[in-house]
Amino acid sequence: MMVPALMLATFAVALFGAAGPALGAEPRVVGLRVGENGDRTRFVIDLDRKLDAEVFTLADPYRLVVNLPEVTFDITGPGQADGRGLIREYRYGLFKPGTSRVVLDLAGPATLDKFFTLSPSGRYGYRLVFDLTETSRQAFIDHVAERRAQNGAGPRRDPVQVPAMGADDGGKPVVVIDPGHGGTDPGTIGVLGRPEKTVVLGIAKTIRDRLEKSGRYEVHLTRDRDIFHSLRNRIRIAHEHQADLFISVHADALDNRNVRGATVYTLSETASDREAAALARKENKADLIGGIDLNTEAPEVAPILIDLAQRRSMNQSARLASFLVGELKQRHVVRTNTHRFAGFVVLKSPEVPSILLETGYLSNPRDARLLESRNGRARVAEAVARAVDSYFDTANATDF
Ligand SMILES: [Zn+2]
Repeated sequence: MMVPALMLATFAVALFGAAGPALGAEPRVVGLRVGENGDRTRFVIDLDRKLDAEVFTLADPYRLVVNLPEVTFDITGPGQADGRGLIREYRYGLFKPGTSRVVLDLAGPATLDKFFTLSPSGRYGYRLVFDLTETSRQAFIDHVAERRAQNGAGPRRDPVQVPAMGADDGGKPVVVIDPGHGGTDPGTIGVLGRPEKTVVLGIAKTIRDRLEKSGRYEVHLTRDRDIFHSLRNRIRIAHEHQADLFISVHADALDNRNVRGATVYTLSETASDREAAALARKENKADLIGGIDLNTEAPEVAPILIDLAQRRSMNQSARLASFLVGELKQRHVVRTNTHRFAGFVVLKSPEVPSILLETGYLSNPRDARLLESRNGRARVAEAVARAVDSYFDTANATDF
């Protein structure tokens, strides 16, 4: 008769332990801290429990990447913060399902002198501690090369999560909406403190809902939560869904806070203006920002070269862009020369007409408030939906 009582007691303890205040279902990062001590820069990840981490360095630009199991970042802020000492800046977020990541941008070549775990003491819980010291460029590069040799050289394809294809719905046109940035790549940080990745996800979901409501389209998002995707993954997702249109949704920022309004971009080898060229350079850096090693990636991020197959989809892209500019002018704020051109990597699908919509400027308080409001999101979604309708209404059967 003693045995059941003992089992009950054990069960109760286990239940109590699981429901304790500290441990939720997902591990939590409760703090990220940078400190300087002489020529040493220390980075600390505060955790609610003991976790293993994988650490590696990337060159050009110099970065230290920390991979963790999927965690919740219990930190207020836009997902990016300034560092000090050898750490210029750091970002954090979900890199792929099961893996969260912290990316440190280094001020110069640095070596990971020490990496260890501290057990709880005083007001601190478990901590992962990284001690960095300065090194030479050559030593940094040698270290990166050595690690690459250990892991096996050659291109490594990061896994892509493609949602299961829906049932055949009678050949509806497929529209893929691509909310820019995500996870370890916050995009630009708005004057209201919210990162681009969050603002554009809200807009993209509103566009999806508006398009789906019409019943005319099969609509997919490249991401529906705060997760990183390489530019190549975004293109690949469009291909996997056999997209008829690809619309990448962003929000820009400029030093001049007075500038506001939306701009529609399509692909071109040469940019329409200097600002468009600068924007393309910035958006094309998303993979570096997110913590991708471009040295092991295929050269699709190399300079944009446009072949014959792409010309046709470029004409279709321009057609959609002109409809969209017209619709935006009627119900949103637009910039002068609303349709511009530049070499955006994410628009380089040979078969899929693709546009990039910069919905406005998060550096402008009025634009930022508008784009974060339900009304602003609805206006953009209405413009996109009407432009997509016009695009398919006027396309002849051979176009898609
Ligand atoms: Zn962007």
